[in-house]
Amino acid sequence: MIIQLEPTITDTQRELLSRKLAEIQYKVTPVTTQSADYLIGVGKAEFDIRSIGTLPGIRDIHRVSDDYKLVSRKWRVENTSIDLGDNLRIGDGSLIVMAGPCSIESDEQVASTLAHLQANGIRIMRGGVYKPRSSPYSFRGMGLDGLKMWHNQAREAGIRIITEVMMTEQIGDMVDYVDIFQVGARNSQNFNLLDALGEVDKPVLLKRGISGTIEELLQAAEYIFSHGNEKIMLCERGIRSYEQAYRNTFDINALVMLKEKTHLPVIADPSHGIGVRAFVDKIAMASAIAGADGIIVEVHEQPERAMSDGQQTLSYREAAQLYRQLETIAAIRP
Ligand code: PEP
Ligand code: MN
Repeated sequence: MIIQLEPTITDTQRELLSRKLAEIQYKVTPVTTQSADYLIGVGKAEFDIRSIGTLPGIRDIHRVSDDYKLVSRKWRVENTSIDLGDNLRIGDGSLIVMAGPCSIESDEQVASTLAHLQANGIRIMRGGVYKPRSSPYSFRGMGLDGLKMWHNQAREAGIRIITEVMMTEQIGDMVDYVDIFQVGARNSQNFNLLDALGEVDKPVLLKRGISGTIEELLQAAEYIFSHGNEKIMLCERGIRSYEQAYRNTFDINALVMLKEKTHLPVIADPSHGIGVRAFVDKIAMASAIAGADGIIVEVHEQPERAMSDGQQTLSYREAAQLYRQLETIAAIRP
């Protein structure tokens, strides 16, 4: 059960509500976010929801039987959209593209990518400065200095930054230089990191775990929301399956299921989803048709020279063609 409180609720009204909830033996967790105060109740007793919903100081009450609650569409029927300022919104029915290299590599690479994005009207640049790599001997990213350098250039260009945070301890150093925090697939159930991102007033793109279920992804999002941050998007990036013909099995079903189960925006990552440059565009377009609110895609001036994930990275020419195709699809999709 979710109870949204009126901002004007008095202490006496709160006490009355607590007594009622104690009577039906519901375990109650208070949640305060950027937008509202809620009580999340978990219990088994049958009761007439009106006996609580009509109490003073309550704005809204819903029974939500799912284990995740605040991220469930059973509670919030309308889509949630995330406002990034300057008329840039994610989740309002438009199709947002975020593009950039797997890893931030140099000043020159950032300048070149920003020029490519500006020329194509793309307003959010992706890139990793802390890279989770399967091998400890691979390039691990430019770190905070790389992020600051990128931030300086991106601000000039009027382009937003999405980048991965790997540890709770990095959040404080990164927060002033980041527009969207990305939680990578390997950290999808790092609950300490999710709790900490719940306390930040910056949007979070949460990726599905490498072998994560849709339910687990929604529960992970609930961690962030219930710690105070409502600005969450969920990202399908392919899961591990028995199939070896490509890097990951992109689960297009997840896009439609997530759109049904949650009010949060849903983003597709076709680059990691298939891991093969030649097919990234097809999977991106399929995702747009399937209802994704955004596409995040890896792009590099010279993909074959990229320091990570070159095999799945589009050249500027390939990316520019994809952006146009996505515009066409966005205009006609259901
Ligand atoms: C990335 O976006 O470059 C990345 C490492 O993604 P994932 O966490 O999905 O593997
Ligand atoms: Mn990558």
